[in-house]
Amino acid sequence: MPGRVSSLQSLGAADGPGVRFVIFLQGCPLRCPYCHNPETWAENGGQTMEAGECLEKIRRARPYLSGGVTLSGGEPLLQAGFALELFQKLKAECFHTALDTSGCLEPPELGALLDVTDLVLLDIKRVNARDCRREFGLSLELPLRLLRRLEERNKPVWIRQVIVPGINDKEDELKDLRKLAGSFSCVKRLELLPFRKLCAPKYAALGLPFPYGDKEELREDRHRELQENYGFIM
Ligand code: SF4
Repeated sequence: MPGRVSSLQSLGAADGPGVRFVIFLQGCPLRCPYCHNPETWAENGGQTMEAGECLEKIRRARPYLSGGVTLSGGEPLLQAGFALELFQKLKAECFHTALDTSGCLEPPELGALLDVTDLVLLDIKRVNARDCRREFGLSLELPLRLLRRLEERNKPVWIRQVIVPGINDKEDELKDLRKLAGSFSCVKRLELLPFRKLCAPKYAALGLPFPYGDKEELREDRHRELQENYGFIM
């Protein structure tokens, strides 16, 4: 089954353990106001590729991949059939597979896909259901349902959240996020990611407003402090 691929990063270091081949799939049903990859939103954008073609490129990069392969986006669960085929091929060749998702969809292939996924990078947008709905139009119940499913399977998870100053950097909220992450034994990491505005030119090029263009970036020292106080790595 062909997939729609936005871009490929052959030596990624930010999406899972080690140096990884990262495939950014096209299409996302969300419109996060800080999204770094607005070029991935349109479902009909990007290029069409077969899973076998991706595998061929990954094989060539294999000597440099100390980690494995991450499927990101966009929202990879939007192309769960393609993701499943690619991960099945990768597992047949013993690659470590990571799925970077907001958990906003429950495609029929999800169970089979999790069978061939070694690690889930789960983006919990906000820990409070009302904020999650208001800011992202997303029911928090969806990522929580995925998290419970991963706990049942004892599948390793890294929870991630982008921290935007003045929005979700308050102590109470971060404590709640830490409490949620700490209550699942499958969660091996809580990573707080700094809000950055490097993506602003992408919005300009696409003729789209950057909703959080007026927000402050998370300073490096503050990011370190928050990660030390609330995040964890097991
Ligand atoms: S889920 Fe990810 S790709 Fe989709 S809009 Fe949000 S940040 Fe962007």
